[in-house]
Amino acid sequence: MTGPTPKPWIMEIAPYVPGRSTTDDGRKVAKLSSNENPLGTSPHARAAFESAAGRLERYPDASGTELREVLAAKYGLDPARIIYGNGSDEVLHLAAGAFAGPGDEVIFVHYGFAVYEIAARRVGATVVVAPEKDYATDVDAILACVTERTRIVYIANPNNPTGTYASREEIARLHAGLRSDILLVLDHAYAEYIEGDAGDGGMALAETAPNVLVTRTFSKMYGLAAERIGWGYAAAPIIEAMHRIRLPFSITIAGTAAAIAALGDTGFVEHTKAHNAQWRRWFSDEIAKLGNAGLRAVPSQANFVLVLFEGELSAEAAYKGLMDAGYIVRWLPGQGLPHGLRITIGTEDETRGVAAALRKLAGAD
Ligand SMILES: *Cc1c(COP(=O)(O)O)cnc(C)c1O
Repeated sequence: MTGPTPKPWIMEIAPYVPGRSTTDDGRKVAKLSSNENPLGTSPHARAAFESAAGRLERYPDASGTELREVLAAKYGLDPARIIYGNGSDEVLHLAAGAFAGPGDEVIFVHYGFAVYEIAARRVGATVVVAPEKDYATDVDAILACVTERTRIVYIANPNNPTGTYASREEIARLHAGLRSDILLVLDHAYAEYIEGDAGDGGMALAETAPNVLVTRTFSKMYGLAAERIGWGYAAAPIIEAMHRIRLPFSITIAGTAAAIAALGDTGFVEHTKAHNAQWRRWFSDEIAKLGNAGLRAVPSQANFVLVLFEGELSAEAAYKGLMDAGYIVRWLPGQGLPHGLRITIGTEDETRGVAAALRKLAGAD
């Protein structure tokens, strides 16, 4: 007797591989594999989370009213046009669910975030992969992939796993080159880490354009990855369509309380941003000193750095060597990067330690 047959497009999905937290032999080591906040979480967020323990028997507010209102006030948005989900991952899935299906095409870049491919394939859409230019998002290459079947373009800006950033002008040019019936999803999971520029203009586009969805998360800068709170902003018809397929209670009371408190703790956010900028720069400089050994850091505006191994030391050997030295980083052969390691900026000790271990592996000591 045979059991039920999964849809063929489901079986074409390569399962998501999360960042590891233990070594092969089960040792607990520094986890620099999931771009989490090395400074933890705002104490206000933790207190708010704990205060929710008295309400465990209650369902959360299915319309997320308080979260939407707080976000709208903070960013000057219309609360009716905010959607939220179980991490921004859910919001990314809702976009595919509402706007793509069998026969439709969904575009993202080769070194893109793995969730876009899963979200597109889940709904039976065809994935179209655009090449990068030296690891950075190439607007012309994306526009060249557009056909009459294109329904969605997903861009992470800054991008994961490359850390590269497309300027406001480039994003405007991408948007201008797309038909208005194509949904442009701008994934701003790392937007808080951008230095210098105030942002890529995505929110302003989402405010006025009929076809732009910006997604944000509490998992990275706000240090709330465990609580799974993400959100998005777009024109009302986009949000309305996505709400129809959203799980009614996808965000929890405790997570929502923690997110609202975290949003108010600007000191924690500023501190995290300054820490990240300082150690990202320091780490990238350290990698530059290993250029003779073929190591190269891709310029990053996020909370991690993609290190390329173009000499004798391979990324795979470095990955294993770092694990032996007590650091778990992300090796990404499944994402077309067998020659790269994505390394999260950790605490000062972790960042100095992983740089020293890489120096040793590269034979520079
Ligand atoms: C981490 C990350 C997310 C956020 O995921 P959550 O579901 O909100 O935890 C979204 N997009 C990218 C590119 C990421 O790296």
